[in-house]
Amino acid sequence: MSFNPASDIQDYLVFGEYGEVNPSINDSSTYTFMSPDTMAELFETEIEGCFLYSRHWNPSNKYLSNALSRMEASESAQVMASGMAAISNSLLQLCQAGDEIVASRTIYGGTYAFLKNFLPRLGITTRFVNIHDQDELKAALNDKTRVIYGESISNPLLEVANIPVLSQIARDHGAKLMIDNTFSPLMITPIRHGADITVHSLTKFINGTSDCVAGAVCSAKAFTDALSDVNSGAAMLMGPVLDSFRSASILKNLHSLHIRMRQHSHNALYLAQGLESMGLKVHYPGLPSHRDHELLKQLRNPGYGYGGMLVLDVGEASLANRLMERMQQEKVGYLAVSLGFYKTLFSAPGNSTSSEIPPAERAKMGLSDGMIRMSVGLDHDIERTLQRLSIGLNDVGLG
Ligand SMILES: *Cc1c(COP(=O)(O)O)cnc(C)c1O
Repeated sequence: MSFNPASDIQDYLVFGEYGEVNPSINDSSTYTFMSPDTMAELFETEIEGCFLYSRHWNPSNKYLSNALSRMEASESAQVMASGMAAISNSLLQLCQAGDEIVASRTIYGGTYAFLKNFLPRLGITTRFVNIHDQDELKAALNDKTRVIYGESISNPLLEVANIPVLSQIARDHGAKLMIDNTFSPLMITPIRHGADITVHSLTKFINGTSDCVAGAVCSAKAFTDALSDVNSGAAMLMGPVLDSFRSASILKNLHSLHIRMRQHSHNALYLAQGLESMGLKVHYPGLPSHRDHELLKQLRNPGYGYGGMLVLDVGEASLANRLMERMQQEKVGYLAVSLGFYKTLFSAPGNSTSSEIPPAERAKMGLSDGMIRMSVGLDHDIERTLQRLSIGLNDVGLG
């Protein structure tokens, strides 16, 4: 039987103390104890249902973390104040001065900047590789490598990481495989394919209402214990704690994620097919023309489609800019960064990370300045959206 993450989340039942169907929100930074001995014990080990101080753990964050660990088939999870907090704290927990990371070159801009510009200050260096080229990846590994880092579906070409292969390579070299699964919640479960740590920006699809920033780490319990260790945990000591009210509202949104993902995927596939049939260049892993279509079919959990992210490549930046302006005027969606909203969001992926890649290699990888990344919304009438998009395309001479 296939893994069914949405059902697993639904089987996680938590009530408030009066039987509220939504667990009560914890509005306290600190917790009282009946005896000083219990308090001392809690500094040392976890006691089920017992809390010390909200930066360490609080019940609302536990509820959301538990639901997310069900989604990601992980033993444990820990929510944080942003996706970047989840990524940076996990890497800082895993690496010390002198250690190395091998990362995919096409990762989220913030992650790229953290690895490239910030971590070297602490003596942690990163080798960036084309993670789809096994030889290049293996050549970058050595006995200092602690982490192989990639995204399950990457920016901007929506390439799919071959997680089973990456996990084998990581294992052979004694490194941990860390996967950012922000683009494909429910769709891909990296830990089931051998990843050690899955990180998320909850800001995107999982919360889905573009009203807050949050993140999560899903992993073995030993790792979340290490992160929240009172004496040595990155999360405990740097303090990226998520507010209880946000935890509670994200948990409520999580319960409709399976329906939203299905609709995002349905709409994105419709637009991708429509645009491709107009002779335009489209990157969408649900199309047989995408290089990783077959791989994604193998890796994905059935029932959630191929995801809500779609890239239209119109060749040059000025054309992309004109088209995006027209798309906003025609109410296709908003010219905005981020993803996972009910409205379609679109932006040019930008050359912040890709600009580091030499022009010849950029061309080889299929990177172009004319790309428009779309996070396709929950549109009720996607046919109408494609018509509006066509008007914009016509106006810039691409119809
Ligand atoms: C947005 C994003 C992040 C960072 O998450 P924040 O919640 O903005 O800190 C990391 N990875 C990916 C793939 C993202 O899209």
